[in-house]
Amino acid sequence: MEVAGITYKDTYFVKTPFAADISLHFHELVHVHQWSLLGAESFIKRYISEIQTYGYNGAPLEKMAYSLQDRFMDNCTPTDVLSYVQNHL
Ligand SMILES: [Zn+2]
Repeated sequence: MEVAGITYKDTYFVKTPFAADISLHFHELVHVHQWSLLGAESFIKRYISEIQTYGYNGAPLEKMAYSLQDRFMDNCTPTDVLSYVQNHL
């Protein structure tokens, strides 16, 4: 799967052409928090299962990250991201 960034536990990586894309950094930070709350094994199992079941665009962990990313880029909707993720896992 071609991606611009990927998260592993508390570290994320972005491809060089996307290094200045702040929305991508925000998106990956949401995944860092998901990893933290679920734990590595649970995150990986759930993420793979969701991708297989719903596809990348329909996977709930991805939809959550994109939804928060959109709010972040909107600038008009302050959001407690840590609580949001915790309440929507
Ligand atoms: Zn993602």
